Amino acid sequence: MDIIVLKPTATETDIEQIVERLKKKGLKAHISKGTERTIIGVIGDTSRVSEDEENAIRAIEAVESVMRIIKPYKLASREFKREPTIINIRGKKIGSERVHVIAGPCAVENRELMLQVADAVKEAGASFLRGGAFKPRTSPYSFQGLGEGGLKILAEARERTGLPIVTELMDPRDLEIVLQYTDVIQIGARNMQNFRLLMEVGQADKPVLLKRGLSATIKEWLMAAEYIMSKGNHQVILCERGIRTFETATRNTLDLSAVPLLKQLTHLPVVVDPSHGVGKWDLVIPMARAAVAAGADGLMVEVHPRPEEALSDGEQSLRPDAFRRLMEEIRPIAEAIGRSV
Ligand code: PEP
Ligand code: MN
Repeated sequence: MDIIVLKPTATETDIEQIVERLKKKGLKAHISKGTERTIIGVIGDTSRVSEDEENAIRAIEAVESVMRIIKPYKLASREFKREPTIINIRGKKIGSERVHVIAGPCAVENRELMLQVADAVKEAGASFLRGGAFKPRTSPYSFQGLGEGGLKILAEARERTGLPIVTELMDPRDLEIVLQYTDVIQIGARNMQNFRLLMEVGQADKPVLLKRGLSATIKEWLMAAEYIMSKGNHQVILCERGIRTFETATRNTLDLSAVPLLKQLTHLPVVVDPSHGVGKWDLVIPMARAAVAAGADGLMVEVHPRPEEALSDGEQSLRPDAFRRLMEEIRPIAEAIGRSV
């Protein structure tokens, strides 16, 4: 038993009694109040509920039906929540009809550069700023990010442009400090299965952008989202950023089929990052167009005014003029499928 659907006539007392009953079995409840009915999601090891106990709950007057979810992820599944989740970040709604674009440099390199990019992407129509202050680099000798200094610069760029910020958290020890500055916590591909980190952000009251792991299946990715949600944070945005395949001509293989598939499997919003997906700046715009056509709720794009001098990911970064072109080119595609940018 994973989901208890209540009748429209169910009262608060009915809900409390059921929650109490679950608690006695060592289970927790997640109450989701829809427009018509309330659904109780049962959290924990539901296999401990015997068939008799399940039938007894089914017999409660206020209960309409009791269901099991076959999928290993529950809170993230469409069965659990039919309506799409819309995450409101400073008035910007990810998962709504509007396609949101998150743009900025791979890493916050310095104040001038960050403010310059922030102005440029804002002017082009981006709705969020990105920039890493803690960078997960393959080599320990590469630029690792500015840490808190970088977060401060991001906050100044937000102040100046009004654009909310998205930045990566790599280590639970930095959670407090990242929370002080960011609007969205990014969990990078390399940490998608860092379960301790996922559980920590699951206790935070901030949206999480969860990138797909380098070689993660859709199921593993949704299980990672479930880790976050199981701790109480239901504000999860999934970000497809390409997966490792035998192909080496592009940095990764951008799995755009993940977008419509996730729309079937989960209610969570889905964003696509074509920059890390392809790793080459001149392939970013076509893949951004394709991502919007496939139904992505947003894009994450790396932008740098001088890619040849970038401290990381220069080869996949768009110059501001190319980013402006991207914004112009995705607009008619969004409109063609009943959305806006
Ligand atoms: C990034 O967004 O700069 C990044 C490191 O991405 P990923 O975790 O997808 O590699
Ligand atoms: Mn990058």
